[in-house]
Order: sequence, then C-alpha cells, then structure tokens
Amino acid sequence: MTVPTSCQAAVLTEHGAPMELLEVPVPQDLEEGAVLVRNRAATICATDVHLAEGDVSSKQAASGLPVILGHEMVGEVVRTNQADVDSIGQRLEEGDRVIWTPGYCGRCVECVLNHAPSLCLNRRGYMASNPADYPHLTGAFAEYGYVYPTSGLVKVPAVLPTRWPPRPPARCEPPSTPSTGSARSTSGRPSWSRAPARSGSSPWPRP
Ligand SMILES: [Zn+2]
Ligand SMILES: [Zn+2]
Repeated sequence: MTVPTSCQAAVLTEHGAPMELLEVPVPQDLEEGAVLVRNRAATICATDVHLAEGDVSSKQAASGLPVILGHEMVGEVVRTNQADVDSIGQRLEEGDRVIWTPGYCGRCVECVLNHAPSLCLNRRGYMASNPADYPHLTGAFAEYGYVYPTSGLVKVPAVLPTRWPPRPPARCEPPSTPSTGSARSTSGRPSWSRAPARSGSSPWPRP
C-alpha cells in the first residue's frame, strides 16, 4: 500500500481554541516492531476534552503544544516493520483492523513488580509529543497513526463493526488504566493488571 509523505491531522495549537486541520508528516521509516495504521474511527474521551481546554496537568501540558489528541481508536494496518503478529499471536496483515495501547517498556518496576504498566516509567504515550517530531502521528485525530513497538496490539474480530451506533466505535483504552484506578480507589495500591503483549519482539514476560 502506498504511504503518503504527509496527511491531515486535527492539531491542538492553543488551549480552549478550535483545533487546526494541518498537514503532518507520515513516518516513512518505522522502528522495528512498529506499525503504521490508517485511522478509521476514534472516540472523544474526557481526557481529550480536559487537554483541549488546558485544565489537566499532564506530560503533554508540561511539554506544551502543539499536540494531536485522541487515544481511543481503531485503524487498519498499512505497513509494519517486522511486526508479523499481534499481541496474542494472530497473523498481522495489511488491511487488518486493529486497536492498540500506549507503549510500555515491560522492564521497569511498575511493569514488572507492580504489574501496573499504565504507570510505566518509560511509557510512550499518545497525545504526548509534538507532531513535528518523529514519529509525528501520536494522536488519533489524524488520518494515519503510529503504533509503538511495545504497544499492545490486537486485531478486531470481523464480527465487530468499526462504528457501532448508537454506541461509540470500537475503541481501545489501556486496560490497565481503569483496573488500576479501580484498585487504587479501594485499596490504595495498584492491583494486578497487564497490557496485551506483542509476540515476537515484545519485551513483555509471557503469562
Ligand atoms: Zn481515555
Ligand atoms: Zn515500564
């Protein structure tokens, strides 16, 4: 599949202002294990709204704007670099619909000992980098998206439609986020939680 050198993205350039439709580079060289997708649908999470309004303390707020929002999305595989299977070992091919998580290192104390990858000390998140910087497309409100090599990535079963009225489209919130939050609210400590692991090059320990 031909990959364009740039694509359109809704970029947040100023808190509280409308996002701007800008042309953003599409990474031509992927890191080993990374996947380039064509985004098909994305939800709008409360976090997106808070970030847009500038009323949430976050890494991206600290690093400033611009940023591409959106972190719950479904897309189609366009290109991979040695990512032949998804996190549960299913063969990955061009055109497959997938959902994915942020990238977790699988090696730090949060990932390994606390089993709380959403708190990964080396997390590579979405909505957290300037679209001018590689890999550019780290938010869902864009035509294309970049899946980190250490992201959980799962094919969407054919039985599930991309859009699912009247409910939101198929989406992906890091599964450890709500489970960890829930556990913290009851016990004050993170509980066991794990993001899906990519077979092959993934640093994740096998269950
Ligand atoms: Zn969210
Ligand atoms: Zn980690």
